[in-house]
Amino acid sequence: MDKSFPLSGWGSLAIHGGHQQDPMYAHQVPIYASSTYVFDDAEQGMRRFSGKEEGYIYSRWGNPTITEAEEKIAALETFGLNMEVKGILHASGMAAISTLMIATLKPGDKILSHYSLYGGTNELFSKVLPALNITPVIADLRDLNKAEELLKSDSAIKMMYIETPANPTIQCVDIDSLSRLAKQFNVPVACDNTFATPYLQQPFQYAVDYIVHSTTKFLNGHGTAIGGILLGRDVELMKTHVTKVHRLLGGNSNPFDAFLLIQGIKTLEVRMERHCHNAMEVANYLESHPAVAKVNYTGLVTHPDHHTALKQMRHPGAMLSFELKGGMQSGIDFMNKLKMCIRTVSLGTCDTLLSHPASMTHYSVPKEEKEKYGITDGLIRMNVGIENLQDILNDLNQALD
Ligand code: PLP
Repeated sequence: MDKSFPLSGWGSLAIHGGHQQDPMYAHQVPIYASSTYVFDDAEQGMRRFSGKEEGYIYSRWGNPTITEAEEKIAALETFGLNMEVKGILHASGMAAISTLMIATLKPGDKILSHYSLYGGTNELFSKVLPALNITPVIADLRDLNKAEELLKSDSAIKMMYIETPANPTIQCVDIDSLSRLAKQFNVPVACDNTFATPYLQQPFQYAVDYIVHSTTKFLNGHGTAIGGILLGRDVELMKTHVTKVHRLLGGNSNPFDAFLLIQGIKTLEVRMERHCHNAMEVANYLESHPAVAKVNYTGLVTHPDHHTALKQMRHPGAMLSFELKGGMQSGIDFMNKLKMCIRTVSLGTCDTLLSHPASMTHYSVPKEEKEKYGITDGLIRMNVGIENLQDILNDLNQALD
């Protein structure tokens, strides 16, 4: 594509963004399966190592297929914002979050975070980082007064970390208000945008400094590769210190997974439109079903974070959860009766996925702890897929009966 041609639509950018003309004229970016790159002569090697000449050296440091994925996601996260950011693709979402924390924090620092977070992130903060004397301060960040009080009273807080909508509760926090508040205390803000994707929500339009994604989910969209990305507003810092830490920790992605990710992103807009349409219909259907006690979907006015979601998201997303009236046994029976929808734990794929946290992901979590996060015995989490809506409804209907 001619780079001077201005793209007016997000979906066009998802297809063309980040693409470089291949030297062999391949239409799609090739999978550059090479661990190292050749120098014309020793002087070129010297120029590359000293940074005087741009170019690839070793695939842990950079790879053309990986670069295309990084530039595509950076373009999408900044669509219409007139700004530049730098993305670094990682082996997983957890690797991206780990690089961020190790690159930006030091012993004695604290991370202020909302209490509802992906379990792995929660464990990283509470079980791994404390060994480096980096500790979490956990609060309900929907309470802005509480957030302000904590920032005011604890100068060791050096990072605000939010995930919105959050896994698994689908709670939303106000990105604009929280990031403006953090700025008053010179605290950088990182936002996990996995559930929303850059199509539904662009945290960089607010005072957010870093975005992380588990690209394993909607960005890839087909459940074919684990991956993650860390994007930063301070391009210089990202290209120097953060890149160095990333290279030394070694949580790099690989060209095959990057290729799958690039192909997935091209259809993100159409997939998300259909995911969200189906999710709204499924939420309405479940709300009126007599076997269902409660539906948690930010698209429903009954959801406590409905207004926050509307304020910052194009549509309320593809994730919802619902509570079955009969508790644990109802949850197990329902899961066993599914015929088309898939029983599994991940999310973000074309197909509808359901999990029963009480018997699966949260089986060994103490009851009081689960209840604190709203995870009851009859709770079902659902990634509403992009199959024809009637088939999803028919499967739910026969399983609920
Ligand atoms: N962030 C969120 C919101 C997630 O749901 C997950 C995984 O489910 C992660 C981060 C971690 O990503 P990964 O599994 O790719 O390491």
